Amino acid sequence: MRLLLVEDEWRLTETISEGLSRAGFVIDALDTVREAEQALSAVPYDALVLDLGLPDGDGLNLLAGLRQKQSELPVLILTARDAVEDRVAGLDGGADDYLVKPFAMTELLARIKALLRRPGAALGTILTAGSLTFDSIAREAAVAGRRLDLSRQELALLAVCRTFLR
Ligand code: CA
Repeated sequence: MRLLLVEDEWRLTETISEGLSRAGFVIDALDTVREAEQALSAVPYDALVLDLGLPDGDGLNLLAGLRQKQSELPVLILTARDAVEDRVAGLDGGADDYLVKPFAMTELLARIKALLRRPGAALGTILTAGSLTFDSIAREAAVAGRRLDLSRQELALLAVCRTFLR
């Protein structure tokens, strides 16, 4: 699974990137709306973790642009804006989930996994290519039903290559 994190507080970026990599995700981290838009048009991400207050604009505008392009990319907003109207604006703007800072890494991880398990999202399916099967929730790969003993990096690679699987 490949995630894009758009966040301009580098300490938070480090913490989140580390936590998510440990959970087996591949993370790209960017800190501006402009860079994020470029990356999103070039890379097929599985989910977006989006801060709202960014140096060159508001994450809500980036989100609006994505949804205008009919993108169904799962988006989790991560922000210090905790007023009810902010949450409503985020969810109305097309976010799938909204987490207020400060947050627990375990909760962020659980929420990302929940987003990825939704119908049509990246997790929740067993993918196959010939005799190879890959269970993206259990993170197990097998050939002809025999389980492969793969390292975390190999499984992450398989998850990234899943566009070649069905
Ligand atoms: Ca910020």
